[in-house]
Amino acid sequence: MSINDFPNFRYHPDPVATGNVGPSSAACRVCQQARGYVYLRDAIHAGREDYSEQICPWCIADGRAASALGVAFACSLDVDQEVPETALEELSLRTPGYVSFQGEKWLAHCSDVCRFLGDATMEQVSQASAATIAAWCTTNDADKAVWLELASDYVPGADIGFYTFECLHCGLIQFHVDAA
Ligand SMILES: [Zn+2]
Ligand SMILES: [Zn+2]
Repeated sequence: MSINDFPNFRYHPDPVATGNVGPSSAACRVCQQARGYVYLRDAIHAGREDYSEQICPWCIADGRAASALGVAFACSLDVDQEVPETALEELSLRTPGYVSFQGEKWLAHCSDVCRFLGDATMEQVSQASAATIAAWCTTNDADKAVWLELASDYVPGADIGFYTFECLHCGLIQFHVDAA
């Protein structure tokens, strides 16, 4: 299976680069095929079983995994944005999630879910635009001093996480920030 056939996830365009889907020779428990990649994270479900490294991204993309196993993948929105039900469904049932310290949050903008681009680099955080900082302050009900303090402490992979989201409509970059 070539990477060219890799499914297209509107809200998580490169889950391999973000570290949430990875190469594997394991057979997918939904389609029973070893397709070369598996979702590295557990699915969201009520049971105790761990579904990590058992579901191929193709079965996430077409919704088979969600319906066959009764699970979701990426789901909680961190903002009070009106987002169409179809977008929320695509996010929760057909999009690979990611892992953060306090439980994954997905951001929205322009009445749509944003696409997840992974952990921010130090430059992306230190050079965040005024619009990005303003959006963060509004979402978190915090002032700019709080942002500056968090941003100055940020080192990728350490105990503060900056997760990057891009609006599919206006291009605004937003960060979801959390800490260990
Ligand atoms: Zn599969
Ligand atoms: Zn936007």
